[in-house]
Amino acid sequence: MQYSEIMVRYGELSTKGKNRNAFIGRLTGNVTKALHEFPQLTIRPKRDRLHIELNGEDSDAVMARLRLVFGIQNFSASVAVPKDMAQVHDVALQLMNETAPQGSSYKVATHRSDHTFELDTNGMNLNLGDFLTEARPDLVVKMKHPDVTLRVEVRREAIYLSTLTELGAGGLPVGTAGKGVLMLSGGIDSPVAGYYALKRGVDIEMVHFFSPPYTSQNALAKAKQLTAKLAPYVGSIHFIEVPFTEIQETVKAGVPEGYLMTIQRRFMLRLTEAIAKQRGALAIFNGESVGQVASQTLESMVAINDVTTMPIIRPVATMDKNEIIKVAEDIDTFDLSIMPFEDCCTIFAPPRPKTKPNLDKTRYYESKLDVTGLVERALAGIKQSDIRASDEFMNQEQDLIAELL
Ligand code: ATP
Ligand code: MG
Repeated sequence: MQYSEIMVRYGELSTKGKNRNAFIGRLTGNVTKALHEFPQLTIRPKRDRLHIELNGEDSDAVMARLRLVFGIQNFSASVAVPKDMAQVHDVALQLMNETAPQGSSYKVATHRSDHTFELDTNGMNLNLGDFLTEARPDLVVKMKHPDVTLRVEVRREAIYLSTLTELGAGGLPVGTAGKGVLMLSGGIDSPVAGYYALKRGVDIEMVHFFSPPYTSQNALAKAKQLTAKLAPYVGSIHFIEVPFTEIQETVKAGVPEGYLMTIQRRFMLRLTEAIAKQRGALAIFNGESVGQVASQTLESMVAINDVTTMPIIRPVATMDKNEIIKVAEDIDTFDLSIMPFEDCCTIFAPPRPKTKPNLDKTRYYESKLDVTGLVERALAGIKQSDIRASDEFMNQEQDLIAELL
């Protein structure tokens, strides 16, 4: 079937009264960005729907991109038909023949914005029901949970028909919730946390700590590739790499072993907060999960969280590892995450980190270090780039995999 438009139904934003225009505006911008490779499209935002007129572009290719845009509840490929019932019947039958196998149940659901049309909602439902009963006697009408819903929208310019409605990505349009920074390691959890932040409309920037020469270029490349995996949800993501070697060496030399990890994490958090402020971000996201490892007990969170008052949001905090892995597989970050490139935390991890660090002791040990100087020098060494979901990164991924085989 040659579809004429993809009709997009808004997600949660339909309920947000006065912010509605801002939400629709942002979603339209994000959809436009996601579909920039299709020059013939016309994108028309309306109060309760977004219409993407295909003008000959391939509907499957367009829908593949739309699936990644947050703020969409569902969408349907539709055919525009002139307001003539003979033509409506003709197209309705074609659509049903394509999507409703022998014996399927169905219903007709009409939505009318042009009230001047000769048939009202009920009239249209009955008319098409009668027509289909004759044309396809094998089909049965079923109001609750039918196999196929024939959607009919009577609008001023035409009547739109569709039989396929697909769930969208849900969530809120990225950018409507402002900006945050994500602490991105090379592990499984933080990319999943990033996905959830984006899903709730937060525009994230990545902060990644690396410690050359203890960590390899591959570890840094992996963090960038993970970023590239999330980039299709937004277009591009700002990536900030922070040199962490001096801090880790200094902490290791000057702090009792049980507190190494706690104090390293406090430095990470201080640096992340400073970067967030520079970048105009309002919150920090990370991949911590309660009780997963020594640094993620509630006692550790108290001792680490102590250095900042900025909100720290932990999207995977209450998920089991298996649940996190399932999402990592769905968003296709899992295979990259499990590649064995040591990150800075693994290398400097003490054999027996305290699972219940004491806050006063933590502060005391740390007070022996030149905290301000260490933070300033690390900040002076940051490098920044923008990462797109480009072929370049996909090729690098292939190289990394090849190297491991
Ligand atoms: P992940 O799978 O995300 O690496 P993890 O279970 O391995 O998580 P940790 O290594 O203890 O847990 O890290 C906890 C969180 O701290 C990470 O989810 C991430 O948000 C942050 N973090 C850890 N290492 C780094 C790093 N090198 N750069 C930036 N953030 C980091
Ligand atoms: Mg990790």
